[in-house]
Amino acid sequence: MEFRVCAKEAGSYDVLVIGGGPAGMGAAAAAAKRGAKTLLIEGLGCVGGTGTSGGLPFWLGATTGSIPYYKMLEKGLAYSELPHPRKAVGGIFEEAMGRLRDAGLGVGPAIMGQTKECPGLDRLGCHDEFTYDLEGGKRILEQMILEAGAGILYFTHVVGVKVQDGILEGVFVSNKEGISFIRAKRFVDATGDGDVAAYAGFETYKGDRKTGEMTSASLVVHIEGVDSKAFEAYLNQGGDPWLRHACRQAQKAHPEMDFNDNIILFPMVREGVFMINGGTAFHFIDGTCAGDLSGLMHRGRMRAYNLLEYLFKPYVPGFENAAIRLTASYPGIRETRRIVGEYILTEEDALEGREFEDTIALAGRHFDLGRVQRREDGSLEYVQPTHKKELKPGGGVMRIPYRSLIPKGSYNLIAAGRCIAADGQTMGPARIMSTCMATGQAAGTAAAMTLIENCGFAQLDAGLLREQLRNDAAIVD
Ligand SMILES: Cc1cc2nc3c(=O)[nH]c(=O)nc-3n(C[C@H](O)[C@H](O)[C@H](O)COP(=O)(O)OP(=O)(O)OC[C@H]3O[C@@H](n4cnc5c(N)ncnc54)[C@H](O)[C@@H]3O)c2cc1C
Repeated sequence: MEFRVCAKEAGSYDVLVIGGGPAGMGAAAAAAKRGAKTLLIEGLGCVGGTGTSGGLPFWLGATTGSIPYYKMLEKGLAYSELPHPRKAVGGIFEEAMGRLRDAGLGVGPAIMGQTKECPGLDRLGCHDEFTYDLEGGKRILEQMILEAGAGILYFTHVVGVKVQDGILEGVFVSNKEGISFIRAKRFVDATGDGDVAAYAGFETYKGDRKTGEMTSASLVVHIEGVDSKAFEAYLNQGGDPWLRHACRQAQKAHPEMDFNDNIILFPMVREGVFMINGGTAFHFIDGTCAGDLSGLMHRGRMRAYNLLEYLFKPYVPGFENAAIRLTASYPGIRETRRIVGEYILTEEDALEGREFEDTIALAGRHFDLGRVQRREDGSLEYVQPTHKKELKPGGGVMRIPYRSLIPKGSYNLIAAGRCIAADGQTMGPARIMSTCMATGQAAGTAAAMTLIENCGFAQLDAGLLREQLRNDAAIVD
């Protein structure tokens, strides 16, 4: 169906990147570096996506073989005995980590925020994490895109596309100027939700292929004013990092509330600031439905308040004077639409460590997309079919082929990040932010190269693309 509106023309580009999350950031910087006139369109007012607007300044997957520290400590391993995993992602992601670190705004991997002062907090994390200052991240990622030569258009949503004979001509955008039309030769869908692919009529599906169910969504919360030393002492004395006992106590005192989930807390780089990642999850949310998202924001804020007042303050040492620093301005959506690509990456591919001639990125994490299903009696059941299976290829990496970024039949649209064609549990490792930035870098590089080669995405020689990515310090082998 063609989208027909009276829309004024608002520019013409070589490459349009839609969505400024980790994938879009990587794509825009890569395309512009290769000389393409590039514009990144972002609905919110900063880049970084879930990492910044979503309150998750916490990139996983920089290395393979992620091990929770508490397991390491249970085994009596010291820092010097940490497993020495291989690097999984380089290129623009590594540059971003380096710039944040050099500016004193980021720590990791293998070091956590605040653990210099309070080493006992390491029980809360894993050794592949890179934590950064949220505001610093917004600024530095934005600088990287602009320095590469791309433009950024904030507060602008892509709401439709114009397709002629299977080729995208441009996108309709909505912003304070009304609805306009922006033309381009190549398009990167980095919306996380596969918006552009879906609007253009390419085949997509949501969540589980059979049931359509999607893993839980969250609203991420930051808490400040925590006495980190008191909390560290609690952990050092054997306190549960997941606060299960505190959850049970709070539940008993307030049966009308829901404290059932385990809480997962991560130390942020600023003293006394912690992010709550687990314990704020809600099930049966469709991240492409505005009504569901509105409900998530409201319920998430209420949950944050209840957790602080009825669980943390009364039951967790160090949190007596804590306060909510922020609830994220962007919802924490783990999965929605995925494209049906020229190749669909399967769980077997990942578990067997399959290598591809057109590998353009690696993912170093394990499967982690748990789901909840309703039993016949209406109660909920956690279903995590492959949760216990670690990736077991040599080196522990899942390889992502170039073809799984290309919507089936597409000429000039490519996807990157959370919406690529990674089926089932492979979306778990593929959606981790380091790998999203890597698929973004590959998509942006491919966009610029197809312009030079005068071909569509599917016709690009993947060998040439891999060579270019290697030259740009990306890891593809
Ligand atoms: C609760 C939660 C915890 C997580 N924990 C971690 C973690 O600890 N570490 C980790 O590495 N990963 C984690 N992840 C996964 C990771 O954050 C995401 O998978 C990743 O950010 C996806 O990157 P992306 O660039 O594809 O999309 P996103 O990060 O979702 O970014 C998409 C961007 O596109 C913009 N956009 C969307 N649609 C449009 C449109 N139509 N027009 C214009 N702009 C648009 C959005 O505003 C947003 O800025 C977590 C995810 C969740 C939800």
